Amino acid sequence: MSRSPLSPQRFSDLDALRAQVAAWRAAGERVVLVPTMGALHVGHLALVAEARRVGRAVVSIFVNPTQFGPSEDFSRYPRDVEADLARLAEAGADAAWTPDVATMYPPGFSTRIEVSGLTEGLCGAYRPGHFSGVATVVTKLLNQVRPDIALFGEKDFQQLQVIRRVVADLDMGVEIRGVPTIREADGLALSSRNRYLTPEERAAAPRLHAVLARIAEAVRGGAETAAPCAAGIDELEAAGFQVQYLAVCDAETLAPVARIAGPARVLAAACLGRTRLIDNLPV
Ligand code: AMP
Repeated sequence: MSRSPLSPQRFSDLDALRAQVAAWRAAGERVVLVPTMGALHVGHLALVAEARRVGRAVVSIFVNPTQFGPSEDFSRYPRDVEADLARLAEAGADAAWTPDVATMYPPGFSTRIEVSGLTEGLCGAYRPGHFSGVATVVTKLLNQVRPDIALFGEKDFQQLQVIRRVVADLDMGVEIRGVPTIREADGLALSSRNRYLTPEERAAAPRLHAVLARIAEAVRGGAETAAPCAAGIDELEAAGFQVQYLAVCDAETLAPVARIAGPARVLAAACLGRTRLIDNLPV
């Protein structure tokens, strides 16, 4: 497949995007959607690289207002579509889908997807309405683009599980794949929000990954999870974090587990100053 350095083609009109997707599919190619909110970094580009490996890479860029709470960072969330398009060109993405708010939420829009259970704990407990906003916008993006496959980062592990649930429950017929988290050399998971960190906070931030790695190691053999998690919270708070949650959970249901008895994940959310960081690791 030849690719021009001038790619990706930018689409803001849904009919034009669908015509391109239909043409690729008619040519026997697989279409892979990578949903993003822009401010693209190397973590996002790993998803684009995986998409290209599998088929035609369509990257959506949309800062979705409905997944931000009233006191969250929607208005200051970084936006730079031109820089994003340049990164996507370098990464060889095939198409960028950049709808505006009026396209996504025209007057009269009244539908929301609510997922029970999975969305109640972890980030869901601290961000009411967040996963409903995510589930709704991702459902809409999947219906717009109609990809064969959609890729999501394991960095947002609860989000990945919620999307898997929605797609299975609503028979959406798209394959959802998770992509491992890309990190800085010191362990900090790449995030568009890392740019909010002051130099002091940036220096403290890798502690989150270090604590998760230590807990994953400690509980792997079947040790009980409560004491290592409590020690991890103490360590993070001593380093200046305000911890929202730090827990070992079943990798599928995300229910907390007292001891490891199957695939599990250690997950945390913690704030450094005004910046909220999340991370997780497999156990
Ligand atoms: P966002 O723009 O933050 O909504 O992220 C778009 C997609 O990129 C989501 O599927 C994220 O999970 C994924 N992502 C964000 N950061 C990383 C990272 N450090 N490594 C891998 N995937 C990531």
